Amino acid sequence: MKIPQYIYITENKKETKEAFECIFQSEQPEKLLIVTSGASARKLKWLFGFLLSNRIKAEKLLIERSDKRALEKTLEKIKKGSFDFCIGIGGGKILDIAKYASYVEKIKFVSFPTLLSHDGIASPVAVIRDGKHWSESRTAESPFAVIIDLKTVGDAATASLLSGIGDLVANLFASMDAEVYKKKNKEEYNALATGIAHSASLLVFPDFSKISINKISKNELRHLAWGLILSGIAMSIAGNSKPASGAEHKISHAIDYLFSPSVSHGFTVSIGNVISAFLHQKFRQEIVEFNLSLGLPVLCEDIGIKKEKFVDAVLYAGKIRPDRYTILEEKKLTKKGVLKLLDKIEET
Ligand SMILES: [Zn+2]
Repeated sequence: MKIPQYIYITENKKETKEAFECIFQSEQPEKLLIVTSGASARKLKWLFGFLLSNRIKAEKLLIERSDKRALEKTLEKIKKGSFDFCIGIGGGKILDIAKYASYVEKIKFVSFPTLLSHDGIASPVAVIRDGKHWSESRTAESPFAVIIDLKTVGDAATASLLSGIGDLVANLFASMDAEVYKKKNKEEYNALATGIAHSASLLVFPDFSKISINKISKNELRHLAWGLILSGIAMSIAGNSKPASGAEHKISHAIDYLFSPSVSHGFTVSIGNVISAFLHQKFRQEIVEFNLSLGLPVLCEDIGIKKEKFVDAVLYAGKIRPDRYTILEEKKLTKKGVLKLLDKIEET
């Protein structure tokens, strides 16, 4: 089990540069590869100026996707360039490629997210895409270091923050699923990992229902950042994504697979959170109010999917990762049962 050795949550350029300096001084890297996107390179010129003109040799690699081609390009670059440190600067796709390539090539990976849109910023999981609709979750290692600049992530679109909040709240329901499989003795249960993941979700739930997402404070951003980091650490401790991924994620994956909606991960997870709350019969009113107050979806119609079609997604969700026992399998859902459940949510 590997967890981040350095975690810095900074508030400005000066603190961010100091955080990198601290790591460089302690670890003495010889050659840095900075994996990023064109958009991040343009937005964060000050950071690239600092990293590329540092006393340590550094090169920049631009990638735009998180598919196998981007992964091969990154692996080849690391191999040919004899890099011993990789810094991923960007959103989830960039970080996933940098994380997985660093893991394969056994070099240290520093995660510098530009978005707080999901818990991949510090998790050992990397999603590699193959084509437009298909993606594969691969197990790697947690980043060696995580640096989150609150100014950078706070300046990003509010949709990214909402996505991160939805993904973090999922831990609340994933930990309930963990209790279900614990009782059933269906799977190995890790109390520490489940406890950390559950506690991490409480950094935003239910209090964030009172915040104004367009005027999110530094302190609130700090809560979200820590929540997502702890979520990643919980996955490392468990050795899998179970503490942060239960029925709600199965529903999210089913929606992605069947409908390819153009919304962020945390939005489809948020719909899964509502379904999971109603299946567990816990936090039903609270999760509906939470999502409504923030502008996260409650029902499938909120992201443009008709109820009749969404039923298929909920039923299909039970077939995803059959090894992962959740409330979906426990309830043995039927089409009629799902429709009744959706009616109940509508009435809330
Ligand atoms: Zn997630």
